[in-house]
Amino acid sequence: MSATDLLRLSAAELGEKVRAKETTSVEAAGAYLDRIAEVEGDVHAYLHLDRETALAQARAVDERIAAGEDPGPLAGVPVAHKDVFTTEDMPTTAASKILADWRPPYDATVTARLRRAGTVILGKTNMDEFAMGSSTENSAFGATRNPWDLDRIPGGSSGGSSAAVAAFEAPLATGTDTGGSIRQPAAVCGLVGAKPTYGGSSRYGLIAFASSLDTPGPIARNVLDAALLHEAFSGHDPRDSTSVDAPVPPVVEAARRADVAGLRVGVVRELGGEGYQAGVQQRFQESVELLESLGAKVVEVSCPSFDAALAAYYLIAPSECSSNLARFDAMRYGLRVGDDGSRSAEEVMSLTRAEGFGPEVKRRIILGTYALSSGYYDAYYGSAQQVRTLIKRDFDAAFENVDVLVSPTTPTTAFPIGERTGDPMSMYLADLCTIPSNLAGNAALSVPCGLAPEDGLPVGLQIMAPALADDRTYRVGAAVEAALAERRGGPLLSENAYAV
Ligand code: GLN
Repeated sequence: MSATDLLRLSAAELGEKVRAKETTSVEAAGAYLDRIAEVEGDVHAYLHLDRETALAQARAVDERIAAGEDPGPLAGVPVAHKDVFTTEDMPTTAASKILADWRPPYDATVTARLRRAGTVILGKTNMDEFAMGSSTENSAFGATRNPWDLDRIPGGSSGGSSAAVAAFEAPLATGTDTGGSIRQPAAVCGLVGAKPTYGGSSRYGLIAFASSLDTPGPIARNVLDAALLHEAFSGHDPRDSTSVDAPVPPVVEAARRADVAGLRVGVVRELGGEGYQAGVQQRFQESVELLESLGAKVVEVSCPSFDAALAAYYLIAPSECSSNLARFDAMRYGLRVGDDGSRSAEEVMSLTRAEGFGPEVKRRIILGTYALSSGYYDAYYGSAQQVRTLIKRDFDAAFENVDVLVSPTTPTTAFPIGERTGDPMSMYLADLCTIPSNLAGNAALSVPCGLAPEDGLPVGLQIMAPALADDRTYRVGAAVEAALAERRGGPLLSENAYAV
């Protein structure tokens, strides 16, 4: 097979060909590594690449297959891995100067399961520092560009992962979603991204941002590929105390089933209207009509507390981050500044944190410390937790009457690089629609639903389902994907300039 043909295959197809010995893991990894060498100068999706480490993994997978082992449907398939998961054989930085060159002594559970599934980790992808951001501009190592338009952001915080997949620098990528960091980058790059049920995928070895929200999940070019990756790394992990001890929902079966006949779909009234880009609204509306034409029963649903979700999130996430990031104290990991024998440990900590953290991370630590301080705790953190309960109740009430909820994934398409960096509030608005599912912990997925007519950029449809009903999001996503591909006469992604 030619290298271009290999790159064009879906992850599912590539895995099949490796198992059928029509190609090898080494060949597939080689094709992707060459592709990376060709376009990485434009896109900058990766923070760490090491051809030899990747090829060594690929050779090992080929040997397992030659020895008659069956590692599963993704064996031999390359993956781009967000640089927030620890990896024994590669640095892990969370895109922060404070962890530059840090080499973890162990693999995250997600990493270990990627290896168990026989995937080949090509490299580590760029992100907003400690996953705080919506554009990947908060990386300490330079921004990533959106393959649809190099002057625009690829979303964030998993923007290196989304850009890598959209530019065909990997067929699959991992991400983490604390407030939208998988679904939003997937949406603005024309990809599928899923936030599993909280606790459905392990946080062990994931560098913590906000522990009650952080959720690893897949980014892929189509729904089935996302489901295969979801299944490969999810499931109970005794090393994560909030891991759910339940079987992984049947997401692969659901992606193959792809039918919505009789399904009850709720359109969330609060997630739309004023402030949403016209083309986003239009494509969203068309998707709702499409679902109806496929046999779904559509109703409007009101979730009034969603209006307070953003405010609650920006108290809870910074509060948790201020506590989690206390571990970067210059004593245990990474950077140490000013340790010349003349300074106290406290002074070294302070100098290190001043130099090692970027402005957004510092803003969050200060916000969180304030919200948790005595005298303000009840007014800020306490009220935010109450709002969180109300949001969960809105979801529970809605799911009594509908099977899934839908909304646009983001209020706008990808915005220009630099447009929102000076205005944190406008940056925070990118996650208006995704945050409720993080606060409530339920499953949600974004699937491409067309290009906005005014700018020709991808729009995402968000599908939300109850906790542990992740399979429903895949079922609906796959149905929309299939119907749209039929209408367009091909996949949306092929229209991007970096498609092969
Ligand atoms: N953009 C949101 C934030 O900055 C969400 C980030 C995420 O999901 N990791 O917090």
